[in-house]
Amino acid sequence: MTTPWGMRDFDAHEEIHFITDEQCGLKAIIAVHSTHLGPAAGGARFWHYAEDDEALTDALRLSRGMSYKNAMAGLPLGGGKAVILADDKRSRTPDQLHAFGKAVDHLGGRYITAEDVGMSVADMIEVARSTNFVAGLPNSAGDVGGDPGPHTSLGVFLGLKAAVKHALGKDSLDGLHIALQGAGSVATGVALHACAEGAKLTIADVDEAKASKLAGTTGGKVVPADRILGLEADVLSPCALGAILDETTIAALRVPVVAGGANNQLATPEDGERIHQRGILYAPDYVINAGGIINVCTEYLGDGDASLVRDRIEGIPVRLEQIWAESKQSGRDPAAVADAMAQRLIGRA
Ligand code: NAD
Repeated sequence: MTTPWGMRDFDAHEEIHFITDEQCGLKAIIAVHSTHLGPAAGGARFWHYAEDDEALTDALRLSRGMSYKNAMAGLPLGGGKAVILADDKRSRTPDQLHAFGKAVDHLGGRYITAEDVGMSVADMIEVARSTNFVAGLPNSAGDVGGDPGPHTSLGVFLGLKAAVKHALGKDSLDGLHIALQGAGSVATGVALHACAEGAKLTIADVDEAKASKLAGTTGGKVVPADRILGLEADVLSPCALGAILDETTIAALRVPVVAGGANNQLATPEDGERIHQRGILYAPDYVINAGGIINVCTEYLGDGDASLVRDRIEGIPVRLEQIWAESKQSGRDPAAVADAMAQRLIGRA
């Protein structure tokens, strides 16, 4: 494996831990990007990577994204992320989850874990048997906590509406066409909110059965996964995996707005400028998708109730407006403006 120092996505990360437990077959990476504003919080992703280097790149990019996300959401948290390397069968055992929990525990609270792609609330319950540094656990009715997905979806929906207002001057999604990439947890919530407001949806997921099910619930259409990014629509909402916006896909976009919940949507920093040059309004991913971490943070810190979570999530469109205003003033693309704002907040300007 390449050393992190030479890697493009290494950003003076404070700590990177490689975890191997041969007995139970666990391989994982925990990256702590920054603890400047507080403990490094960010989910654990369970994914099959063709190469170990890809897992390290993911951990580096995702953890830096969490530093930026937590700072921009106004939370007293730093940024970190874990990736658990799935085997070919993509199966995991309770022993592996316990071993992962022990590794988190050894960091003494410098890293707080939660769900991400491929990890469920049930998995976090297993992880929590080995460590208290975990959030996103089940909650009783009315309590803060539980699955962050619906909170992420709410923030994405509110941010998407703000983008539509900003770019198209419309107060409602009624009659607008949204191209939705993904039909998982975040995409489902976004689809339900948008459908309730009268939006028309076209949905794509590599798992076509999931896309069909969501289309059935929302009256939407399904297209093959390789068609969604070039679809003509009012909004593209990427809610699957990262690095989907590159030179080729950006050139093929046929939307005035890109606003979705997936982490790390831009393949490279230059792609933010490419979208901007095409006159497409972009909602920086780690700003618009902060709803889940807002809920997780409020649960973990115990500093508020569901109405505080809602208030904090309603701050997402406000932050986006600040970014777009600064972008208009400076001429810089919104992704670069958001990065600069976040770096100022975490003391790395
Ligand atoms: P999920 O696993 O529930 O759903 C992801 C979906 O994307 C799956 O249905 C998968 O089949 C699909 N997919 C994968 N590759 C695809 C492709 N090339 N084209 C179309 N579909 C594809 O995950 P999720 O929790 O909904 O997360 C979605 C994204 O949002 C991820 O990037 C995640 O990091 C980000 N995110 C999630 C949360 C959260 O609270 N869950 C918070 C912030 C950001």
